[in-house]
Amino acid sequence: MASQLKDKEAYQRLNYLYQAAHCVLSQNGENEKLARFYCFTQRTIARRLVLRQDPSVKRTLCKKCCSLLIPGVTATVRQRRKNSKTRFTVMRCLSCGQSKALLNNPDHCLWVDRPEAQMEQRKQPG
Ligand SMILES: [Zn+2]
Repeated sequence: MASQLKDKEAYQRLNYLYQAAHCVLSQNGENEKLARFYCFTQRTIARRLVLRQDPSVKRTLCKKCCSLLIPGVTATVRQRRKNSKTRFTVMRCLSCGQSKALLNNPDHCLWVDRPEAQMEQRKQPG
């Protein structure tokens, strides 16, 4: 019980930091370093407590320098094609140059949305 509450608090803090990073960056584009600091703190907490971050959050953070990736502000977004069928969305961080490629697949199902993941989550408390 106690550990569950602690995790909840940590998640709230992660959420707060993530929103704060968005907030300072939208107020002023020069707040990039502050936003990076928030995201860095967010990642540190998540790593220390081994919390799984939502993919939607993970995709907007730079793996290398922890920048918040916002298309046109801190990152460039390009469509790349491997062959006629496979296309990628490539996000490139403007502060460190690290890029991440996401496969464009409309049928892709995230692990958390799969029934197996739900079963795994249900098993854990018992
Ligand atoms: Zn970066």
